[in-house]
Order: sequence, then structure tokens, then C-alpha cells
Amino acid sequence: MAILRVEPLTTARALRGPFDYRRPAAMKGIEVGSVVRVPFGSRRLLGVVVEVAQTSELAPERLAEPIEALEAGAPPELVELGLWVGREYCSTPSRGLQLVLPPGTGAGGRTVRSKTELRAQILPAGEAALSGDERLGIKQRAVLEALRAGEMSNAELTAAVGSDRQTLRRLEQRELIGTRSSRLRRAPGQSGLAAPAQRPQLLPEQEAAVDSIVAALDGDAGAPRGLLLHGVTGSGKTEVYLAAVEAALERGRGAIVLVPEIGLAPQAVARFRARLGDRFAVLHSALSAGERYDEWRRLRSGEASVCVGPRSAVFAPVRDLGLIVIDEEHDPSYKQEGDPWYDARTVARKRASDRGAVLVAGTATPRPETWLELPRLELPRRVDGRRLPPVELVDMRQADPRSGPLHPDTWEALEGVRHAGAKAIVMINRRGFAPWLTCRSCGHHWGCPNCDVSLIVHRHSGRLVCHHCAHVEPAPRACPECASTTLSRAGAGTERIEALLSERLAPMPVFRLDSDTAARRGAHARILARFGEAPSGVLVGTQMVAKGHDFPEVTLSAILDADATLRFPDFRAEERTFAMVAQLAGRSGRGEAGGEVIVQTLAPTASSIEHAARHDSAGFLAGELERRRILRYPPFSHLVRIGFSAEREARLETAATAIATELRGALPEGSELLGPAPMFRVRNRHRRRILIKASDREGTVAAVRDVVERRAADRSLREIAIGVDVDPQ
Ligand code: ADP
Ligand code: ZN
Ligand code: ZN
Repeated sequence: MAILRVEPLTTARALRGPFDYRRPAAMKGIEVGSVVRVPFGSRRLLGVVVEVAQTSELAPERLAEPIEALEAGAPPELVELGLWVGREYCSTPSRGLQLVLPPGTGAGGRTVRSKTELRAQILPAGEAALSGDERLGIKQRAVLEALRAGEMSNAELTAAVGSDRQTLRRLEQRELIGTRSSRLRRAPGQSGLAAPAQRPQLLPEQEAAVDSIVAALDGDAGAPRGLLLHGVTGSGKTEVYLAAVEAALERGRGAIVLVPEIGLAPQAVARFRARLGDRFAVLHSALSAGERYDEWRRLRSGEASVCVGPRSAVFAPVRDLGLIVIDEEHDPSYKQEGDPWYDARTVARKRASDRGAVLVAGTATPRPETWLELPRLELPRRVDGRRLPPVELVDMRQADPRSGPLHPDTWEALEGVRHAGAKAIVMINRRGFAPWLTCRSCGHHWGCPNCDVSLIVHRHSGRLVCHHCAHVEPAPRACPECASTTLSRAGAGTERIEALLSERLAPMPVFRLDSDTAARRGAHARILARFGEAPSGVLVGTQMVAKGHDFPEVTLSAILDADATLRFPDFRAEERTFAMVAQLAGRSGRGEAGGEVIVQTLAPTASSIEHAARHDSAGFLAGELERRRILRYPPFSHLVRIGFSAEREARLETAATAIATELRGALPEGSELLGPAPMFRVRNRHRRRILIKASDREGTVAAVRDVVERRAADRSLREIAIGVDVDPQ
């Protein structure tokens, strides 16, 4: 008798399987990865079969049987990977498994299935009935007539002759037609962006990069299996990915291409689709549940062999995986900000090494850890032979505050763009109109009632909005303290910049791109398309404007508060700032007219900004790695962050301190624990944070998991939320 070990899909940390079930003879098809509905006490739960065993510690008669198995399950290889993620990121098996299951297999909610359609074809008896004197209803006759031309679906027949399922059933009972059910593909819509299907003649550097990847695919002796493709924007990295994917396909192997946020790269997706045709599948959250499910099934069945998608696509059920590409590997969206806090780049490395696949991480601005760990393939110049645009640093410390958020030099450059009928991109990393609202008479300041942060003025919607919680209130006309109506809206966000630009640069159109304007489905691509089609214009927005597009008419990029990210107390602040400035610089001067870049900053001497201005990643990374070595930050240590939150601050303090003490005793040698440190309140919850710097990653993660799990079972701590983030970003 076979025993099924089933891990229940539940969010409760305390309920931990696997639990044993008996496999009934009628369910022979159930194997590792199958999703089953099982009786569990008085409830029914969905669970995943994680092992098929021969014996159980429990007597066979005490074992229950699954009630049913769902249509699709995960391949065993991915079950292993999901369980690994659960362990590695201090989460639960259930949360790890959830990542690898067919889309729509939830602990709650409805389960998605395949969609089928009924197709009918006429039988010889049907032909005979039409010509003989057999009695036929009007609809029946119409159906038979229609089917003489060939097989049709129920829907097609309904449209053509107004028949219904009932008609078909009767005809089938009379053995005049035959029917079969056929699986329908719910195919993702296409952006409508055209892309060439032709492969260009590769440049020698591209050729060399492809050769190294192919050597790795072929398992040549000494060929490294993980590679960093370092090339400025426009150096032809995507062409290298495409050639590598084609090489993998030629060898009968599949590939995964991870991209930052799929909605952010419609042009890239169109290129892959055009080149790979039917072998291509795409998985991302903007698809409908049915589309996602069908794309997943196409990969699982081997019908498609290449998956393009954002971080979650690292779990795509690609068969015979030969290659994983991580495009823009520096992008923070590869890290999931929620339980399980996995990093798709780490998961990709694990999956590639388990499957003997090749990993290629590509970017213009590599992370220090990648720079240190992976051998490099360099694409040092742009395909079009153009030089990178010159970058001008504008020191805002010298600027007259009355002249507003744009420096006179920036205005001058923008007016030059208008004069030339060209295009510009202006980036400011804050949405809304103004980040501060204060009363000029009494100094009253509008803050969020739930969080210790300012409310942001959104002029478009006439509201004050908290960017940390859902709090919204109407923008006030007068001060509630002193009734004064002179309110000051200080600082600038995308809305204010949009207004300033529209006013001063008219009639040049201004397009705003941020998460407010791009909130609706498809809006992001539409805004980019309108900017692309306009003969001349300015695109203003948050970091979104620096990604996933290629407009040759852009001759100016300006970044308004380049050092805003540097002011975050985060050891990655320098790295982020460097990437942001360098990426934006890469958006300018892609066409005939060349281009320039303006960086407004209060910190013109910061290493990240200076090096980005010179397009010097190697120089920046050398310094950054040295700094991290001294401070013992990754890649010279591993970090684990434990976050606590609760409504009552005293209890929070007690609990966080107790856990810190317990951890200090449990952590392996070489670990350093900092905190608990207070963090600003969010959503009415006080917060504390512990940070651990560790040399022994595995030992540290295991110790944290033990302590956290024990605490999760402790009822006295129920009101305290604890989250563990391994490798926090
Ligand atoms: P990256 O991904 O590094 O930004 P892309 O691969 O998108 O660079 O290349 C930039 C542009 O150059 C694209 O329009 C691409 O089609 C084109 N391109 C890339 N390689 C070649 C080549 N070898 N010959 C001609 N055009 C190329
Ligand atoms: Zn006031
Ligand atoms: Zn808030």
C-alpha cells in the first residue's frame, strides 16, 4: 500500500505536516506534487503530496484517504524547491509550496481549472438523415447542415445557427453527430507593440558572450556555469539573452527569463514573443487567473519551453531547464517584500545549480555581490556606436531656494529640448504634489493619524494621502488649530513638477508616469505609447520612467533629487543611488541627436553620484566593496532581519528584548546581533527591529527559525507580529 505524505496548505505557522494518508487504488495517478483535498479532523484541506512512501508510523486503518486530486500539480523538482524556500527564508512549508503550485491553487478562494469547449462533428448517419426522410427539428437540421463543412464548437454553432447544448445532446443521443471536449487556451493579450523577428548579425563582443554561455550549456570543462553579463544600456544584452535562449532550445532544453516587472517592459516581452513564437509563455500578475493557469500548463506539458516573467517566474514549471537569465539583476523587485521574503536571484542560483542549468545575470549596474561572485562577460559599448551621454552634476546647495525645485540650468536645458522639438525625461522619486503641508500662522503640520509620517498633498484628487497606510482625507482649506487659510505646501512630487513643466514649457505636452497614473490595467503601456508617438514632449515621473523603454528622440534626462535615496539609513543606499542615476543616464541620447543628463543633487561628492556621472561601475564597485568589507556587510556577511510590531508598545518592547536575549544565546559563533531598535509607527502599530550579521548563514537561519517557531506557539505573544527577512534589501 502506498502512503501519501501531505503538507497542508494553511497559513497557520503552528500546523505543520506532513500528515500521512492512504492512497486508494483508484488514485494511482497521485504522485509527489499532486494537489489533493484531504479530510483533516472535521475539516477539509487542500494539501500537496511531498512524498510517496511505503510505510507509515500509523496503523493503516487509522489513515484516511484523500477525497480528490486536483487537475494539475507541481513537478517533484519544484516541490523540493518550494520546501527549500520555506526553510531558507524562515517561512513555512505551506508558504514555500504555494509558490510552485499551478496559479489559482489557493488555501482559500476558488481553484482555477482548464477551460474546455464541446466540439461536434457529423457522423455518416447524420449525413444520411439530411438526405433521407428522417424527422429532424429545425435546429437539428441547421446544425447538421452546418457541420457538413467540418467540425465546429458549441459556441460557433450557437453563433451560426442559434443552436444550444440541448440540440447537440439530442443529436448525439440519436448518433447523428459525435462530440468531444477540447481544451481551450486562454491566451494572454498582446501589447500591440511590433518587434522584429529577425536576429541581427551579432557584434564580436556579443558573439563572444554567447559563445561563453553556449560553452557552459554544453558543459565544457572549465566553463563557469554562472555568468554576469555587464553591459551599458543599449549594448545589446537582450540580443545575447535571445541567442542564449535559442541555443538552449536547440539543445532540447528550456529557459526562464526573469525581468523586473513585466508591465514595465512591454517592449522586451514583444521582442521575445516575436522571436520565440509558440515556444514562448509569459507569467505575471496582470494576466487573468485563467490565462495564467493555461500558460503554466503549457510550460508544464512542454508545449512551451521558455517562460518570461517577473520574480515569481523563477518557479515556472519549465521542463529540462537549461538556462535562467536575470535581466536587470540589480532591480529591487526581485526581492519579495512579504512572507516568504525570498530573493528570486538566490532562488535562481539554487535552481540552476540543482538542475545543472546555466545562470546569466545581466545589468549595466551590477550589485556588489554579483560583481564579486560571478565571472564577467563585458559589452563595453553601445550597439549604435554612440558614446554614453555626458552627465552634468548640478549642485543644489548653491541654488536659490526661491527658484523652485528645478535649477535654472535644468530649465535652460528643457527649453533647449522644446526649441529643438525633441523629448526629455524628468525623474523625481516621490509621487503626489508636495510632501509637507503646514500652517504658516501656527506651524501645524498634517501627519498621518496611524503612522509617524507626513501626509502627502495630492492635488489631482484634492486629498491628503499617507504613503504607508490606506489613510486618505480631503485636502483642508483652513488650519484646524488656528483657522488660518494660509497653508504652505512644501517640497515637490511628480504632480507639482508636472504642473510646473506644463506651465512653463507649453505647448510641449507633459506626460506623468507614476503609480497613480499607471494604476489602471494597461495604463502604463498607454502612457509610454503616447509619449512615444508625440512628436515632442516631456515624460515626468518616479523611477518608473527609468525602466523598460527605448525612445531614440530623448535628448535629455534630468533627475531632480538624486540623493533622496542616499538619505535612507540603509547600507544599500549608495548602490541604489548609483543604479538609479546610471539607469536614467542610459535613457538619454539613444538617437542621432545625442543627448545629455542633468543630475540635481545636494551631495555632488557622494561616491555613487560621482561615479555614476562618469559611467564608471568598476570604480564605484571597487570602492563600495571595500566599504562593505570594512563594515562587514554583504557579500562579506549574511544579514537576517527580524521585525516586530504590535499596538501596545510596552508589550512589544518586552517581547522583542526577550527574543533578542534568547537569540544571543542561540546564534552560532561569528554572529552579531543589533537591536531591538525602534522604527517609526505604521498603521497604528509600533515597531522594533533586530538585525543579525552572520558568517554562518545556515546555522543562523536555523537558530532564528527555532526561536521564532517556539515564540509563534507561545500564546502570550499572540498580539505581536513577527516577520523574518533573510537577506533583507
Ligand atoms: P540592452 O538590452 O543592453 O539595453 P538591446 O539588446 O536592447 O540592449 O539592444 C539595443 C538596441 O540595439 C535594440 O534595438 C536591438 O535590437 C539593437 N541591437 C542589438 N544588437 C544588435 C546587433 N548586433 N546589430 C544591430 N542591432 C542590434
Ligand atoms: Zn494654524
Ligand atoms: Zn499612514
